[in-house]
Amino acid sequence: MLKRMLTTLIVILAVSWTAAGQSRQATDRVIAIRAGRLLDVEEGRVIENATIVVRGERIEAVGRDVAVPEGAEIIDLAQHTVMPGFIDMHTHLTGDPSYGYSDQALHQWPGYSAIVGAKNARKTLLAGFTTVRNVGAGEWADVALRDAIRNGIVPGPRMFVSAYALGITGGHCDRNGYRPDALSEPGVERGIANGVDEVIKAVRYQIKYGADVIKICATGGVLSAGDAVGAPQYTFEEIRAIVRTAAMAGRKVAAHAHGNEGIKTAVRAGVASIEHGSILDEEAIQLMKEHGTYLVPTLMAFEAVVKAAKEGKLAPWSAKKALEIEPYARRSIRMAIRSGVNIAFGTDAGVFPHGQNADEFRLLVDAGMTPLQAIQSATIQAARLLGQEKNLGSIEPGKWADIIAVRGDPLSDVTLLKNIDFVMKAGVVYKRDGNEIPFTPSK
Ligand SMILES: [Zn+2]
Repeated sequence: MLKRMLTTLIVILAVSWTAAGQSRQATDRVIAIRAGRLLDVEEGRVIENATIVVRGERIEAVGRDVAVPEGAEIIDLAQHTVMPGFIDMHTHLTGDPSYGYSDQALHQWPGYSAIVGAKNARKTLLAGFTTVRNVGAGEWADVALRDAIRNGIVPGPRMFVSAYALGITGGHCDRNGYRPDALSEPGVERGIANGVDEVIKAVRYQIKYGADVIKICATGGVLSAGDAVGAPQYTFEEIRAIVRTAAMAGRKVAAHAHGNEGIKTAVRAGVASIEHGSILDEEAIQLMKEHGTYLVPTLMAFEAVVKAAKEGKLAPWSAKKALEIEPYARRSIRMAIRSGVNIAFGTDAGVFPHGQNADEFRLLVDAGMTPLQAIQSATIQAARLLGQEKNLGSIEPGKWADIIAVRGDPLSDVTLLKNIDFVMKAGVVYKRDGNEIPFTPSK
């Protein structure tokens, strides 16, 4: 009797068409996708009438002459353009926009931000972003969310997380503007570190508790109180020590940087990417090209803060900084695109509502990219910056089956990418014909 019940249960699990149900079957399941137009982001070309064979979590075969294995489930995307899942290299999934956010530090319970993150992770995945690099979160909420997604507890993109961002006392990554006894003074555990010894300890601490990447605040920022947006906030020696310590553990460093001097210092010290990069000049561009440094432009963030400033939603000091920096940022990103600096797609989602990430494509094209280049920045280029080009960033045998599709031709209109019709992550379908597939937790 028990055996029969178990058999019945296994049959039910095998046929249940839910995202988690597929996940349980992922090892053996074979799916053949018929792609009307397949975008080959490595070669920059479209392949018509291609077949993609997915076995379990990975892609097994792709091309025009690929045979459909017997018994494979067929997914018909003949009317679609099929692409690798998108990667957003700059998100803050565990936060929602709240320009008076300094109050959260006093009122929000521990754990709340991870729950907010679960909500935002689902939205981000359904928007076609199958991977994110989350650069800055408190309370280990990003580490918890990453693991919950990995374990099939909640739906969301594959996450690479930084845990606490590293910054100087009183800098962009600190919490400023309170009387000294209102909040406990953060130390290396919460990313606040000064001097070479402390930054080394802070890097090791974040890695110990789950960081896949190290995020630093190399200059002031727009939404923080008490610091000039362009001011350098770490010395060359400090950033060098951060980069070396991170590299020993196989981690890369992402540097938030607006000001020209701070950008150059971070590039010379060997960071992998400059986030925002508002004030670039010829020398900074040259340095980035020499070092192979990536720029992650976050144009959506600039647009969002300028809008908020004009609507009177920002604190006066933030509004002033937002309006001051934005024209520089536009010019700098144009210059970087024209000069051929490596660019990886990143939005700073969290500064604006999650799930709108694909609007960055429009802004990148406005700044001088071709639609193909913009899509490459969110796929193969982002995968390279993650150091995951063997697993991610294109539809090739051996890589994770992260596959999305859209109706129409995004190479002639990138705004189509705001309406993703089909989402598969690691062989599991989360969205089909524009509809979310019901998700059941794996436990
Ligand atoms: Zn950010």
